[in-house]
Amino acid sequence: MAGDRVVIVGAGVAGLVSALALAADGFEVTVLERAAAPGGKMRRLGGIDSGPTVFTMRWVFEELFAAAGMNFADHVRLQPLHTLARHAWDGTSRLDLFADEARSVEAIGDFAGVAEATRYRTFCRDTKRIYDILEKPFLRSERPSMAALLGANGFRGLFDLPEIKPFSSMASALAQYFHDPRLRQLFGRYATYCGSSPYLAPATLMLVAHVERDGVWSVEGGMHALATALADAATSQGANIRYGAEVREVLMANGRATGVMLASGERLDADAVIVNADIAAVADGLFGKAASRGAPAIPARARSLSAMTWSMTAKTSGFPLHRHNVFFSGDYPAEFDAIFRRDALPMEPTVYVCAQDRGDDAVSIDGGERLLVLVNAPANGDRHVYDAAEVQRCAERTFGVLKRRGLTVTPQQIQATTPNDFHALFPATGGALYGRSSHGWTASFQRPGARTKIPGLYLAGGSAHPGPGVPMAALSGRAAAACLRMDLTSRARSRTTAMRGGMSTR
Ligand SMILES: Cc1cc2nc3c(=O)[nH]c(=O)nc-3n(C[C@H](O)[C@H](O)[C@H](O)COP(=O)(O)OP(=O)(O)OC[C@H]3O[C@@H](n4cnc5c(N)ncnc54)[C@H](O)[C@@H]3O)c2cc1C
Repeated sequence: MAGDRVVIVGAGVAGLVSALALAADGFEVTVLERAAAPGGKMRRLGGIDSGPTVFTMRWVFEELFAAAGMNFADHVRLQPLHTLARHAWDGTSRLDLFADEARSVEAIGDFAGVAEATRYRTFCRDTKRIYDILEKPFLRSERPSMAALLGANGFRGLFDLPEIKPFSSMASALAQYFHDPRLRQLFGRYATYCGSSPYLAPATLMLVAHVERDGVWSVEGGMHALATALADAATSQGANIRYGAEVREVLMANGRATGVMLASGERLDADAVIVNADIAAVADGLFGKAASRGAPAIPARARSLSAMTWSMTAKTSGFPLHRHNVFFSGDYPAEFDAIFRRDALPMEPTVYVCAQDRGDDAVSIDGGERLLVLVNAPANGDRHVYDAAEVQRCAERTFGVLKRRGLTVTPQQIQATTPNDFHALFPATGGALYGRSSHGWTASFQRPGARTKIPGLYLAGGSAHPGPGVPMAALSGRAAAACLRMDLTSRARSRTTAMRGGMSTR
């Protein structure tokens, strides 16, 4: 109900989206963020975007701003990218994927032959179909159940796609589409967008390929500008965002969340609390024992990927970089085997390079340019110490892969972030960046929805439903706001009815 007090723990994308939606509805919203700036994983290091770099599903943000009576385009400037990414395998094999399907078909034809290009068309058709089937009953639902999905319009259509069995792995489905192992590797990489292995993730995750084809934009001012715009929008609607404010406990009375206690000892009362920290932090008791019932634990073996990243300015030569570049390892199964089975960094990693000063054209840049270099890593930041020697060895392997694919990087300034650092930034995760891994076809149903067992306590973020990624976390923030609004409204109604009947529920 308008005027009710809501505390939101965390100014990640989901927390900010909940804040915007609820403040626009007239709730009295306070966001408490332990860091010094908004965005959470969407962070900057020395002016370099050091978290998400691929912006997709623009419609999510357009809808969110519109619901608050604002126009997204007035707050965030986007440039469509015609080239989605440049992929490289060795010194000579390169393939660009484009937003325009026909251009990709042509490029794949040149790269791997006409038959493979025809199969790519089928792949595009089917991934669109998967997306269309799942958008409403899964992505837009507050929390899907298998039963609801089975009953949803069109869901059974998934079983009609000959190459996909919803119960098969992404890698085995991709093997039905593509004969060229490089293409299987390229499209399998989309599993990592959910922090998962293509050999263990379900085939339905191939819908990410459609999401990218549907549009990738670069954000003027960098991805962090999106976080700032969301924070400004929420503030303009009346939300109060406090930085350097760490929450230690969700306070409870009579089994209901009634506020929070900060590390400073300050208490804030609230009618409802939304936690945007990782659900593992709730389950592990970082917000108090009573609140821990509010989220399912994520066992270490079920964690998604972490990463080793280097935020840098550097001179580059020898390879025509685009904005998004992927340099593939020679042995993809070995990479995921190292991470998920042996809890170790891969010997030869696949390397993602975001060249942040570049747009669609592979222009040459004299002097230094800003790069984020990323390799996947196990989420063991709470039980393994990445010392300077190990980080150095990982850097040598990473930049060695780039060199063998033709790219020489000469750093000017460089800052590494390890799974230990990610664990410190996002407590209780071991550095896992995407919540629970999406391994096995039931994994998607194991992410909790926004409502918890505890009245007045809600979850929002990439570790909750519908999952990780900036737009998905935003959808989760919207779902948390919607559930909270609905629950407080019906609580107020039942209170009024009870009062009329002559008794108070307080
Ligand atoms: C290196 C990297 C690359 C990525 N690439 C992409 C990409 O290209 N495209 C994409 O869409 N997604 C990408 N992602 C994933 C995406 O960034 C996340 O899924 C999304 O940003 C998560 O948002 P969230 O709402 O879960 O909040 P988070 O970003 O997890 O933020 C949670 C916030 O809660 C705060 N917090 C935690 N505990 C407390 C406490 N006790 N008190 C107060 N505050 C607290 C934290 O400080 C943090 O600010 C990437 C992530 C990383 C790290």
